[in-house]
Amino acid sequence: MFGVRSKGCYTLSQMSRLSFYNLNLQELEQALVGRGKEKFRAQQLFRWIYGQRVTDFSQMTNLSKVFQGEMAELLDLTLPEMVTERISSDGTRKYLFNMGDSQLVESVLIPSDDRLTLCLSSEVGCNMACQFCYTGKQKLKRRLTAGQIVGQFLQVSDRLPEAQRITNLVFMGMGEPLDNPEAVFRSIEIFHSTWGLNLSRKRITVSTSGIVPLIPLVTASGARLAVSLNGVNDEVRSQIMPINKKWPLEELLEACRVHCRESKDKVTLEYVLLKGVTDSIQDARDLHRIAQSVPSKVNIIPFNEHPGSGFHRPDEKAINAFHNELMRLGTHVLRRKTMGRDILAACGQLATNPDARPRPRAKTQPEATL
Ligand code: SF4
Repeated sequence: MFGVRSKGCYTLSQMSRLSFYNLNLQELEQALVGRGKEKFRAQQLFRWIYGQRVTDFSQMTNLSKVFQGEMAELLDLTLPEMVTERISSDGTRKYLFNMGDSQLVESVLIPSDDRLTLCLSSEVGCNMACQFCYTGKQKLKRRLTAGQIVGQFLQVSDRLPEAQRITNLVFMGMGEPLDNPEAVFRSIEIFHSTWGLNLSRKRITVSTSGIVPLIPLVTASGARLAVSLNGVNDEVRSQIMPINKKWPLEELLEACRVHCRESKDKVTLEYVLLKGVTDSIQDARDLHRIAQSVPSKVNIIPFNEHPGSGFHRPDEKAINAFHNELMRLGTHVLRRKTMGRDILAACGQLATNPDARPRPRAKTQPEATL
């Protein structure tokens, strides 16, 4: 169903070049100085490539012809190949990318009234094995590079109409971002730096299933923190999220408190409503108690079913009762609007395992093979 146009998009000569989108300013400066060039050229290149989105060196008019040619030999500007784009009836777009070695990941663009959010993937598959997550059924194949994370953004951004731009980034796609910290935090540096893509750090959110020792890296990066909570006690949480056996709930919450103290920010607690597992009124009360113990807001996410999940979405009555109980108690709570469900682009529904790919459904616009 998904047509992969080519098996790999990197040639041997590209592989021996430096991948531009992996580099920060200091590294590019060093690479240039090491080749006898002026340091300030790095800033010029970043301005052309990230600021102006000019990727043909011969069009960089303030660089000499000789330098243009040298840069074309030194720097590889290959982006992940966008293979397909699927558009939901609600405007959500899901993109399938080939990372150059036929490994596939998905990204999702979610429009709302005042923002355009891109949900990024950080790994091909995921080893965290959260029981309710489609990606978790696909074991980790490999971690993405920073350039491949930035590349998802650039490919989507380059295709938007002039008046539109991506306002927010969330690391909530395929993979556990803190299982790939080097690439994720390097990409965040590229996203927020003035020499890079110049996005506010406060518009970048890293969501973790709970790799507690690495939460301080989120704090240090200046990004916002979201935690996939989903269980109000260790028994339930360990059942649906194996990581809880390693870093139990109280350790996770304490790491959140430290983050909030140091960042002067709130943490988002994401809570998936699974019928008969996490959706009782008592669960809502326990969730309120947890939310009171850490500066936070709660996102409740009614489960989005996927093939073979084994869990069910609660009915609207149960979802409303849960939500109302939290509001009655005074919890800062939002019910996450489900977006892109008809194209399996909703939360927890991403997967690129060929055996687990979604079948097209009625009312979904035809998929575009790019
Ligand atoms: S919810 Fe996130 S961490 Fe858990 S399996 Fe899915 S992708 Fe991995």
